[in-house]
Amino acid sequence: MGETFRLLRQALAPAWQRLLDLLFPPRCVGCGDPGTWFCPQCRASVTPIQPPLCQRCGRPLNDGRLCSQCRRTPPVIDGIRSVAFFEAPLRQAIHHFKYRRRTELAAPLSEMMVAYWPQLRWSIDLLIPVPLHERRQRQRGYNQATLLAHRLGWAIGCPVTEGALIRQRETAPQVSLAASERRRNVAGAFTWQAPPLQGESILLVDDVCTTGATLEACARALRQAGAGSIWALTLARPPTVYRAAERPIFASGGPSVDLPEAHHNPSAGRRLSARSD
Ligand SMILES: [Zn+2]
Ligand SMILES: [Zn+2]
Repeated sequence: MGETFRLLRQALAPAWQRLLDLLFPPRCVGCGDPGTWFCPQCRASVTPIQPPLCQRCGRPLNDGRLCSQCRRTPPVIDGIRSVAFFEAPLRQAIHHFKYRRRTELAAPLSEMMVAYWPQLRWSIDLLIPVPLHERRQRQRGYNQATLLAHRLGWAIGCPVTEGALIRQRETAPQVSLAASERRRNVAGAFTWQAPPLQGESILLVDDVCTTGATLEACARALRQAGAGSIWALTLARPPTVYRAAERPIFASGGPSVDLPEAHHNPSAGRRLSARSD
Protein backbone atom coordinates (compact mmCIF):
# COMPACT_ATOMS: atom_id res chain seq x y z
CA MET A 1 0.00 0.00 0.00
CA GLY A 2 2.80 2.41 1.02
CA GLU A 3 4.68 1.57 -2.17
CA THR A 4 1.56 2.14 -4.30
CA PHE A 5 1.03 5.49 -2.66
CA ARG A 6 4.67 6.43 -3.24
CA LEU A 7 4.48 5.47 -6.93
CA LEU A 8 1.21 7.32 -7.35
CA ARG A 9 2.67 10.40 -5.74
CA GLN A 10 5.74 10.13 -7.97
CA ALA A 11 3.60 9.80 -11.10
CA LEU A 12 1.50 12.79 -10.12
CA ALA A 13 4.42 14.96 -9.05
CA PRO A 14 4.93 16.75 -12.41
CA ALA A 15 1.20 17.49 -12.73
CA TRP A 16 1.06 18.62 -9.12
CA GLN A 17 4.05 20.87 -9.71
CA ARG A 18 2.38 22.36 -12.80
CA LEU A 19 -0.76 23.04 -10.79
CA LEU A 20 1.25 24.69 -8.03
CA ASP A 21 3.11 26.79 -10.62
CA LEU A 22 -0.25 27.84 -12.01
CA LEU A 23 -1.66 28.75 -8.61
CA PHE A 24 1.56 30.28 -7.30
CA PRO A 25 3.58 31.26 -10.37
CA PRO A 26 7.33 31.33 -9.79
CA ARG A 27 8.83 34.72 -9.00
CA CYS A 28 12.52 35.49 -9.11
CA VAL A 29 13.90 35.42 -5.55
CA GLY A 30 16.33 38.17 -6.56
CA CYS A 31 14.12 40.81 -8.22
CA GLY A 32 10.56 39.51 -7.92
CA ASP A 33 9.97 39.26 -11.69
CA PRO A 34 7.47 36.52 -12.57
CA GLY A 35 8.31 33.45 -14.64
CA THR A 36 11.33 31.80 -12.99
CA TRP A 37 12.78 31.33 -9.52
CA PHE A 38 16.08 33.01 -10.46
CA CYS A 39 15.77 35.09 -13.59
CA PRO A 40 18.41 35.35 -16.34
CA GLN A 41 19.10 39.01 -15.50
CA CYS A 42 19.78 38.23 -11.83
CA ARG A 43 21.96 35.26 -12.81
CA ALA A 44 23.93 37.43 -15.21
CA SER A 45 24.51 39.99 -12.47
CA VAL A 46 26.38 37.43 -10.32
CA THR A 47 30.06 38.16 -10.96
CA PRO A 48 32.41 35.19 -10.61
CA ILE A 49 35.40 35.59 -8.28
CA GLN A 50 38.44 36.05 -10.51
CA PRO A 51 42.15 35.34 -9.93
CA PRO A 52 44.65 36.19 -8.57
CA LEU A 53 43.60 34.06 -5.62
CA CYS A 54 45.40 32.23 -2.85
CA GLN A 55 46.18 28.82 -4.37
CA ARG A 56 44.94 27.06 -1.26
CA CYS A 57 42.01 28.86 0.38
CA GLY A 58 40.96 30.80 -2.73
CA ARG A 59 40.79 34.24 -1.13
CA PRO A 60 41.59 37.10 -3.50
CA LEU A 61 45.20 38.33 -3.37
CA ASN A 62 47.16 41.19 -4.86
CA ASP A 63 50.08 38.97 -5.76
CA GLY A 64 51.90 35.84 -4.66
CA ARG A 65 50.59 32.31 -4.52
CA LEU A 66 49.53 31.94 -0.89
CA CYS A 67 47.80 34.23 1.58
CA SER A 68 49.51 34.94 4.89
CA GLN A 69 47.18 32.58 6.74
CA CYS A 70 47.89 29.60 4.45
CA ARG A 71 51.64 30.34 4.60
CA ARG A 72 51.48 30.35 8.40
CA THR A 73 49.25 27.29 8.79
CA PRO A 74 49.10 25.24 5.58
CA PRO A 75 45.64 23.64 5.40
CA VAL A 76 45.07 19.93 4.75
CA ILE A 77 42.75 20.79 1.87
CA ASP A 78 44.55 21.32 -1.46
CA GLY A 79 42.33 24.13 -2.66
CA ILE A 80 38.99 25.87 -2.14
CA ARG A 81 37.24 27.92 -4.80
CA SER A 82 33.90 29.70 -4.71
CA VAL A 83 31.94 30.84 -7.72
CA ALA A 84 30.96 34.30 -6.41
CA PHE A 85 30.66 36.49 -3.36
CA PHE A 86 27.75 36.00 -1.00
CA GLU A 87 25.94 39.15 -2.12
CA ALA A 88 22.56 39.98 -3.61
CA PRO A 89 21.01 38.43 -5.63
CA LEU A 90 22.97 35.20 -5.08
CA ARG A 91 22.55 35.60 -1.32
CA GLN A 92 18.75 35.63 -1.66
CA ALA A 93 18.85 32.63 -3.98
CA ILE A 94 20.94 30.57 -1.53
CA HIS A 95 18.72 31.61 1.36
CA HIS A 96 15.55 30.43 -0.43
CA PHE A 97 17.30 27.28 -1.63
CA LYS A 98 18.47 26.37 1.85
CA TYR A 99 15.91 27.64 4.32
CA ARG A 100 12.68 28.04 2.33
CA ARG A 101 12.57 24.69 0.55
CA ARG A 102 12.98 26.23 -2.89
CA THR A 103 14.78 23.15 -4.17
CA GLU A 104 13.95 24.24 -7.75
CA LEU A 105 16.88 26.62 -7.32
CA ALA A 106 19.26 23.64 -7.46
CA ALA A 107 19.10 23.89 -11.26
CA PRO A 108 20.16 27.52 -11.81
CA LEU A 109 22.59 27.47 -8.88
CA SER A 110 24.36 24.29 -9.97
CA GLU A 111 24.56 25.69 -13.51
CA MET A 112 26.77 28.45 -12.11
CA MET A 113 29.11 25.85 -10.64
CA VAL A 114 29.15 23.96 -13.94
CA ALA A 115 30.00 27.17 -15.82
CA TYR A 116 32.81 27.92 -13.35
CA TRP A 117 34.21 24.40 -13.42
CA PRO A 118 36.40 24.39 -16.60
CA GLN A 119 38.80 27.04 -15.29
CA LEU A 120 39.70 24.88 -12.28
CA ARG A 121 41.49 22.11 -14.20
CA TRP A 122 41.22 19.76 -11.22
CA SER A 123 41.20 16.08 -11.94
CA ILE A 124 38.53 14.52 -9.71
CA ASP A 125 37.48 10.92 -9.07
CA LEU A 126 34.62 11.49 -6.62
CA LEU A 127 32.27 14.28 -5.57
CA ILE A 128 31.26 14.41 -1.92
CA PRO A 129 28.66 16.87 -0.65
CA VAL A 130 29.40 18.32 2.79
CA PRO A 131 27.01 16.29 4.98
CA LEU A 132 24.47 17.71 7.39
CA HIS A 133 23.95 16.10 10.76
CA GLU A 134 21.25 13.43 10.49
CA ARG A 135 18.86 15.42 12.64
CA ARG A 136 19.24 18.65 10.67
CA GLN A 137 18.79 16.79 7.41
CA ARG A 138 15.58 15.25 8.74
CA GLN A 139 14.28 18.68 9.78
CA ARG A 140 15.13 20.26 6.41
CA GLY A 141 14.13 17.24 4.37
CA TYR A 142 17.15 17.51 2.07
CA ASN A 143 20.80 18.50 2.00
CA GLN A 144 21.29 21.47 -0.32
CA ALA A 145 24.94 20.45 -0.93
CA THR A 146 23.79 17.03 -2.15
CA LEU A 147 21.35 18.58 -4.64
CA LEU A 148 24.18 20.72 -6.03
CA ALA A 149 26.68 17.84 -6.09
CA HIS A 150 24.36 15.54 -8.08
CA ARG A 151 23.77 18.12 -10.79
CA LEU A 152 27.44 19.11 -10.93
CA GLY A 153 28.54 15.46 -10.98
CA TRP A 154 26.14 14.68 -13.80
CA ALA A 155 27.38 17.66 -15.83
CA ILE A 156 31.09 16.89 -15.42
CA GLY A 157 30.70 13.11 -15.56
CA CYS A 158 31.88 12.34 -12.05
CA PRO A 159 30.21 10.02 -9.49
CA VAL A 160 28.80 11.37 -6.22
CA THR A 161 29.31 9.50 -2.96
CA GLU A 162 26.82 10.05 -0.15
CA GLY A 163 26.53 8.51 3.28
CA ALA A 164 30.24 7.68 3.67
CA LEU A 165 31.40 11.00 5.06
CA ILE A 166 29.24 11.52 8.13
CA ARG A 167 28.68 14.54 10.35
CA GLN A 168 28.76 12.65 13.62
CA ARG A 169 28.35 15.59 15.94
CA GLU A 170 25.85 18.43 15.81
CA THR A 171 27.69 21.72 15.75
CA ALA A 172 26.62 25.22 16.75
CA PRO A 173 25.71 27.43 13.79
CA GLN A 174 29.02 28.81 12.49
CA VAL A 175 27.56 32.24 11.79
CA SER A 176 27.84 33.45 15.38
CA LEU A 177 31.44 32.33 15.85
CA ALA A 178 34.88 33.87 15.30
CA ALA A 179 37.36 32.06 13.02
CA SER A 180 39.21 30.22 15.81
CA GLU A 181 35.92 29.21 17.44
CA ARG A 182 34.67 27.92 14.09
CA ARG A 183 37.69 25.64 13.80
CA ARG A 184 37.13 24.28 17.32
CA ASN A 185 33.39 23.97 16.69
CA VAL A 186 33.80 21.62 13.72
CA ALA A 187 37.03 19.86 14.71
CA GLY A 188 36.39 16.12 14.68
CA ALA A 189 32.76 16.62 13.63
CA PHE A 190 33.19 14.46 10.52
CA THR A 191 34.11 10.82 10.13
CA TRP A 192 34.48 8.39 7.22
CA GLN A 193 32.21 5.38 7.66
CA ALA A 194 32.97 3.25 4.62
CA PRO A 195 35.84 1.08 3.33
CA PRO A 196 39.08 3.11 3.17
CA LEU A 197 39.73 5.29 0.15
CA GLN A 198 42.64 4.42 -2.12
CA GLY A 199 44.16 7.74 -3.02
CA GLU A 200 41.12 9.04 -4.92
CA SER A 201 41.00 12.71 -5.74
CA ILE A 202 37.95 14.20 -4.00
CA LEU A 203 35.88 17.29 -4.66
CA LEU A 204 33.87 18.51 -1.67
CA VAL A 205 30.76 20.46 -2.64
CA ASP A 206 28.91 22.98 -0.48
CA ASP A 207 26.76 26.07 -0.86
CA VAL A 208 28.73 28.58 1.23
CA CYS A 209 32.29 28.63 2.54
CA THR A 210 32.91 31.22 5.25
CA THR A 211 36.27 30.61 6.92
CA GLY A 212 36.81 27.20 5.35
CA ALA A 213 36.75 25.54 8.79
CA THR A 214 33.99 23.08 7.84
CA LEU A 215 35.72 22.09 4.60
CA GLU A 216 39.03 21.71 6.43
CA ALA A 217 37.39 19.43 9.04
CA CYS A 218 35.94 17.32 6.19
CA ALA A 219 39.36 17.22 4.51
CA ARG A 220 40.99 15.90 7.68
CA ALA A 221 38.50 13.03 7.87
CA LEU A 222 39.00 12.27 4.16
CA ARG A 223 42.80 12.37 4.46
CA GLN A 224 42.63 9.93 7.38
CA ALA A 225 40.40 7.70 5.26
CA GLY A 226 43.07 7.54 2.54
CA ALA A 227 42.03 10.25 0.08
CA GLY A 228 44.58 11.63 -2.39
CA SER A 229 44.04 15.27 -3.36
CA ILE A 230 41.13 17.04 -1.69
CA TRP A 231 39.51 20.08 -3.29
CA ALA A 232 36.36 22.05 -2.59
CA LEU A 233 33.98 24.10 -4.68
CA THR A 234 31.26 26.23 -3.12
CA LEU A 235 28.73 28.56 -4.69
CA ALA A 236 29.59 31.53 -2.55
CA ARG A 237 31.75 33.01 0.14
CA PRO A 238 31.11 36.24 2.03
CA PRO A 239 33.27 39.22 1.09
CA THR A 240 35.36 39.34 4.26
CA VAL A 241 37.74 41.83 5.78
CA TYR A 242 41.13 41.49 4.14
CA ARG A 243 44.42 42.68 5.50
CA ALA A 244 46.36 45.39 3.66
CA ALA A 245 48.55 42.84 1.88
CA GLU A 246 45.52 41.20 0.32
CA ARG A 247 43.18 42.49 -2.33
CA PRO A 248 40.37 44.50 -0.78
CA ILE A 249 36.86 43.58 -1.82
CA PHE A 250 34.55 46.53 -2.18
CA ALA A 251 30.89 46.04 -1.64
CA SER A 252 28.77 47.18 -4.56
CA GLY A 253 27.99 50.86 -4.34
CA GLY A 254 31.54 52.12 -4.01
CA PRO A 255 34.82 51.70 -2.23
CA SER A 256 33.46 51.64 1.29
CA VAL A 257 35.20 49.74 4.04
CA ASP A 258 35.18 46.07 3.12
CA LEU A 259 33.19 44.67 5.99
CA PRO A 260 30.97 41.64 5.70
CA GLU A 261 27.50 42.30 4.28
CA ALA A 262 25.85 42.09 7.66
CA HIS A 263 27.64 45.29 8.70
CA HIS A 264 26.33 47.22 5.70
CA ASN A 265 22.76 46.16 6.22
CA PRO A 266 22.07 44.73 9.64
CA SER A 267 18.53 43.61 8.86
CA ALA A 268 19.56 41.81 5.67
CA GLY A 269 22.44 40.26 7.57
CA ARG A 270 20.11 38.83 10.16
CA ARG A 271 17.57 37.52 7.70
CA LEU A 272 20.03 36.15 5.15
CA SER A 273 22.93 34.96 7.21
CA ALA A 274 25.81 32.98 5.70
CA ARG A 275 25.27 30.10 8.04
CA SER A 276 27.48 27.11 7.42
CA ASP A 277 25.73 24.08 8.77
ZN1 LIG B 1 15.63 38.38 -11.01
ZN1 LIG C 1 44.99 31.15 1.68
